Amino acid sequence: MNILLATSEAVPFAKTGGLADVCGALPIELARLGHQVAVILPAYRQVRYCGQPMEPLGIEFIVPMGSKTMTGHLIKSCLPGGTVPVYLVQQDQYFDRDQLYGVDSKDYIDNCERFVFFSRAVLEAIRLLDLPVDVLHANDWQTGLVPACLKIEYQRSPRYQRMASLFTVHNIAFQGQFWHWDMLLTGLDWKYFNWHQMEFHGKLNLLKTGMVFADSISTVSRRYAEEIQSSPLGCGLEGVLQHRRDVLSGILNGMDTSEWNPATDPHLAAKYDADNVALGKPLCKAALQKELKLPGRADVPLIASVGRLTDQKGFDLIPEVIQRWVQTSDAQWVILGTGQPKYHRLFESLAQRYPEKIAARLEFSNPLAHRIEAGADMFLMPSRYEPCGLNQLYSLKYGTVPVVRATGGLADTITGYGHAKPGDPPANGFSFDEYSPLALSETLRAACDVFEQPEVWKQLVQTGMRQDWSWAVSAKKYVELYERTLLRAGRVAVV
Ligand code: ADP
Repeated sequence: MNILLATSEAVPFAKTGGLADVCGALPIELARLGHQVAVILPAYRQVRYCGQPMEPLGIEFIVPMGSKTMTGHLIKSCLPGGTVPVYLVQQDQYFDRDQLYGVDSKDYIDNCERFVFFSRAVLEAIRLLDLPVDVLHANDWQTGLVPACLKIEYQRSPRYQRMASLFTVHNIAFQGQFWHWDMLLTGLDWKYFNWHQMEFHGKLNLLKTGMVFADSISTVSRRYAEEIQSSPLGCGLEGVLQHRRDVLSGILNGMDTSEWNPATDPHLAAKYDADNVALGKPLCKAALQKELKLPGRADVPLIASVGRLTDQKGFDLIPEVIQRWVQTSDAQWVILGTGQPKYHRLFESLAQRYPEKIAARLEFSNPLAHRIEAGADMFLMPSRYEPCGLNQLYSLKYGTVPVVRATGGLADTITGYGHAKPGDPPANGFSFDEYSPLALSETLRAACDVFEQPEVWKQLVQTGMRQDWSWAVSAKKYVELYERTLLRAGRVAVV
């Protein structure tokens, strides 16, 4: 099949979250399976420093933007390994900026215009580059207009008629909502600005637009696909998804095992795999304790959390639990993250008060994230909601037992110790349902009890380390979904 993946982020070009990991890794795996894949994304300022080759193609195009027109250019690059071409849409007024979407937690005021331009550029690029496309795979609100423009405008022309579209929702909380006059920028007729197409409570909603016009919709875990069909996790769009549930599916993200593998990880004090975890992991733990200036004790559990410090990730539960635990337990804690200032203040003050038990690193550091995955005993993810989550997968691979709230992708990947139902995979972590500090604390207590039983703990570690959460599994599911999407749209792939 010929697949074009339209995205606002892809590793190593530009990243703010999991979307970039997916769009950088999935295409490589699809190419390995024998498909023709290309990726298209904006040429942000940071793409210049990604280390990949850049070839300006000298192709100029014009996009109507309301009452004006804007010009863009195409640059060709490729994903690492060279098997997947990447087309970068250059428009410096829109994309030559410090950040991808905004600065100091404030979105750029012209985000609608920027991504309407990008979405239309995707469709123009197909024609200008003469790209063969069977499935046009758009991702998140930034490309929500792609399936709509394809269906409403472009499919009048023969080149686009045989294309089907898939729209993947990576996090339904981010919807790309803009005031109604931005409808003029889309170039689409006002008749589409109605409550069952592009409008949402009086505003233009680009995520809803993508969900309404795509031939298939997917999200990043089966549980999340169910959860977003009702309130509150549907964030107001549950009705749209219920209506389109026949075309909705959930495919777990895979992990990039070339980056996340304790047997080859260059960031670690010692390398290890499932066969020699007892040798390597204690060395990583000791090195991490040293780096974090925590007492070098092998006998106490080291409990870690890495991620965006936001309410979504459950960071409001963790400080309360830590405060209770420091009085009664020797457990050590490490938090790595950046995000809402209130959490920076909270974790900073906790680390200052209890430096022998708590380390807070309020920064973005990929090498430290690797060392934490290897050196910790438990990894906390008490998320309010979690579309897929990657850190629990890294933890499994690194023999660090996840303690999670059973939501979204966490529920689909972690079988809680003592909670396995008949037919479930074997336990590989600990999980709880109720979003409360008490539930988290009790689950951690249970985890610490098992930590004291080395044989049972070893079994949990081994189960997680030997599971396969790589893209090899998930990419095959995407291929099946692309095939279903083509069938649904009544088209066949041109071989
Ligand atoms: P989300 O996409 O919702 O932020 P995921 O778990 O899917 O969450 O992916 C987050 C990714 O970003 C992981 O690779 C994680 O290790 C990384 N990450 C998040 N915060 C930090 C940080 N402060 N330092 C290093 N890596 C981080």
